Amino acid sequence: MVSRRVSVLLSLLFLLTVPARGQDAASPKAKPRVIIVGVNGMELDIIRPLLLKGQMPNLARVIEKGAYGKLRTVSAPNCPRVYTTLFTSTNPEEHGVTGFVVGGITANTNMLKEEPIWSMLSKSGITVGMANVPATFPVMPVNGYMISGMLTRGKNCEDGVLCAPKLSEVLGGDAVYPRTMQAELLKNVGDFYIDCERMPSAAELKGHETAVIDQWLAKVQVIRDQQTKLFDYLLTEHPTDFTFLAQSCEDRAGHWLYPITPFNVGYNPSINSVRQDAFPNQYVAFDKVLGIVLKHVDASTYLFILSDHGIKPLREFEEKDPHAHMDHEKTTPVIAKHDFADGDDVPGSLFAMGPGIKNDFRLMGLGASVYDIAPTILHIYGIDQPRQMHGHVLTEIFGSSENKVAAQK
Ligand SMILES: [Zn+2]
Repeated sequence: MVSRRVSVLLSLLFLLTVPARGQDAASPKAKPRVIIVGVNGMELDIIRPLLLKGQMPNLARVIEKGAYGKLRTVSAPNCPRVYTTLFTSTNPEEHGVTGFVVGGITANTNMLKEEPIWSMLSKSGITVGMANVPATFPVMPVNGYMISGMLTRGKNCEDGVLCAPKLSEVLGGDAVYPRTMQAELLKNVGDFYIDCERMPSAAELKGHETAVIDQWLAKVQVIRDQQTKLFDYLLTEHPTDFTFLAQSCEDRAGHWLYPITPFNVGYNPSINSVRQDAFPNQYVAFDKVLGIVLKHVDASTYLFILSDHGIKPLREFEEKDPHAHMDHEKTTPVIAKHDFADGDDVPGSLFAMGPGIKNDFRLMGLGASVYDIAPTILHIYGIDQPRQMHGHVLTEIFGSSENKVAAQK
């Protein structure tokens, strides 16, 4: 286990010893380039019909050129819990981020009890760039930059839970590392929202359902456009060996706008018959974000699109569920969720392409899990898997043993 203090010390140490990019001309080893795009709560039940209808052409391209399938998640999955498992390949009880709130406090990076992958990569001299990734607030030092995501606290988002503070209004910690980058982002990208808009409460909706839904969806698109601009800016102006970007509006929309039928639990025609395409449209919009990211992906780049869990209409007795969805003190009319006791009810998903990764290859079953992402990324960079990690390298997605790792020399 690595304490926060040791971790910070180690991070500072590497910053002193690793030459900055451009200063290491004497050893111009090309490092593999990896881009991860996290999509919170990506649901294959919704995505696959869209793929069949040709409404997600960019994701279809990734599937054709790569490997895809379900990604087994943890029990009672939610974003901070799963993302931190993904960062560390350890279970929630080990890494400490067991949910949105831990011991009465909003989950934050000071709670991390296991070393995250960005720290390991940074120490190995790999440049790291991260933006809008859940559970990265307050940001930690890396060999590059980090801009926090879900659970960032700020004005109108004091607890940081499922709401969207503006970059300039963040409170209680740093949202950008290095600090000097914040002014640059405000100047060149604007005062963007972090994470995604808070869901409306039942009281706000009552009597104004259509107007509130449309307003909310418009705000979500503003946020997505801002984040797309941010990603494009970062990939253009601050390219890093390892880049991890994430989107969270898809999941947020699914919770209360999943296209359910009168058969489902919680069906309210004044809400659930209004914009039945609202949730699928989130993925159509995401596909455009992916199109922008793909402009920065060449044949030597590894691209991983992954989801921490899916999302499904309500199907479980919830009275005793300690992980019941939290927003507006549970007054949002949530009709779909993911924190079911059995995580296999809502698997995440993985789409991967890059050097040596099989083409048009489908992973069947639940053989790949969120625990496998960190070991696989470390493997691509030729870094041995630390003993605490429970996952395995996803060798099954690679075509042949000599292609498993990008050229190191
Ligand atoms: Zn959610």
